[in-house]
Amino acid sequence: MYCPFCGHSETKVTDSRLVAEGNQVRRRRECLACGERFTSYESAELLMPRVIKSNGNREPFNEEKLRLGLMRALEKRPVSLERVESVLTRVKRALRATGEPEMKSLDLGELVMSELRELDEVAYVRFASVYRSFQDIHEFRKEIDSLGESDRQLPDEVISDVDDE
Ligand SMILES: [Zn+2]
Repeated sequence: MYCPFCGHSETKVTDSRLVAEGNQVRRRRECLACGERFTSYESAELLMPRVIKSNGNREPFNEEKLRLGLMRALEKRPVSLERVESVLTRVKRALRATGEPEMKSLDLGELVMSELRELDEVAYVRFASVYRSFQDIHEFRKEIDSLGESDRQLPDEVISDVDDE
């Protein structure tokens, strides 16, 4: 953001807060060149952090891509589209709430996984296996076991998937 006083391109954020029910962020900024302070209001689209991929490339947050990933994980699972959309809404809200300009794709994955874990365990494991790219079956098994510890019945489908490997 350019300084409105001198036009310098680098400013420091001194304070950040969500306004307009979380759809906008109000930032106090200080110009690194002239030291003047000013306030900016940024809208939701601008607030979405860019995603840092594991190879270091940055890309804009892609809602459609995430929706497709969720749908793939939820294939043939008894979960309504409505609930998928509410997961997306919560993820986007959480991303905006960080107020950070960038986020690692792994952290985004963890965020999505924590939502999926509540929604459907089979989908959670499917998504996790892609996102964390489990190196071997032991790691995968560990994840399955940790699901078991949470005292919930693990669907047979997941267990038979693993035994097939
Ligand atoms: Zn300035």
